[in-house]
Amino acid sequence: MNYVAWSMLSSSASKPKNNEKQHIVVALGGNALLKRGEPLTVDIQRQNIRYGISSLSAVLRSNTVTFVHGNGPQVGLLALEGAAYQKQTGAIPMQLDVLDAETEGSIGYMLEQEIDSALGDEGCKRGVITMLSQIIVSPNDEAFNNPTKFIGPVYSLEEANKLGKPVKQDGQFYRQVVPSPQPIQLIDQQLTALKLLTKNDVIVICGGGGGIPVIFDPVSRRLTGIEAVIDKDRAACMLGKTLGADGLMILTDVEGVAVNKDKPDEKWIKSASPAAILELADNFPAGSMGPKVSSAIDFVQTQRDRWCRIGSLKDATSMLEGKAGTKLTNEHGTDHLEYY
Ligand code: ADP
Ligand code: MG
Repeated sequence: MNYVAWSMLSSSASKPKNNEKQHIVVALGGNALLKRGEPLTVDIQRQNIRYGISSLSAVLRSNTVTFVHGNGPQVGLLALEGAAYQKQTGAIPMQLDVLDAETEGSIGYMLEQEIDSALGDEGCKRGVITMLSQIIVSPNDEAFNNPTKFIGPVYSLEEANKLGKPVKQDGQFYRQVVPSPQPIQLIDQQLTALKLLTKNDVIVICGGGGGIPVIFDPVSRRLTGIEAVIDKDRAACMLGKTLGADGLMILTDVEGVAVNKDKPDEKWIKSASPAAILELADNFPAGSMGPKVSSAIDFVQTQRDRWCRIGSLKDATSMLEGKAGTKLTNEHGTDHLEYY
């Protein structure tokens, strides 16, 4: 399947030396912050974030951790607010890049408070900070010819035609679609800061919602935000490779990666090599498990001793002990595949 095959890119990042601790990039799924169907209130988000951070507290205490998180429902709410304003005044108040920045700020704020309360004095010593991350994408990315990511509210066909923006059918309605380009790199000034912070064991929340996609013009030296959404699992993988992280944990609302999901012969993968899981790519849809598996492959195959774990946020600690989740690893050879 082509979707997964893109990940055959490689990088040659060097490892930071953080005493004996491992450096883990933790990608928190949008569902970790807001379960499907739940009302989008701050109280509910805060409660979910508190629960998520408490199941991660053992991981946080014994490792250097960099967080990346999703923002689908939150950015959708802001788009709705913007649509209401536009209906009243005719003016579009915010572009998607600014909405992305807003959600990085609001979700980062809540994550910081919950991390602080989970770690206490240790959090004060180590430091916790949110970075409104700008991630460079290529203006020539093929995603710009084929926008696929749904954003914002649903419209009737008549309303959608008046939007003046690309739309696609989503069930019985129509929604705006934006491109989902590959993340190339965090902008230089932020990358320098992120490397310094991580080296000093600071917990950084970055690349939220996949980061703010920007295009860099080398002639004018200007960064311009664009109407696009970077997949947060791909952003987490890219950041992990750049920082030379040891591990990538992709935490979502299912116990791991399955083959024949929701069918009578459903099986859950315990561990696999990148090549073995790539053979099963037809099991991983582009809108959900596909980017997680392709990011996992991309991360693991670029350095022999790297690992990636995909599983449920509530199992974060037992995943690290090898008792839950799906592990991608090179340690058992190229054809390795083990089921629960
Ligand atoms: P997140 O917000 O964490 O990125 P996604 O909805 O994108 O969550 O991906 C997680 C979802 O992927 C699960 O809820 C699950 O239903 C779905 N899924 C699709 N195919 C598979 C598969 N083969 N194995 C496990 N989960 C799968
Ligand atoms: Mg997802």
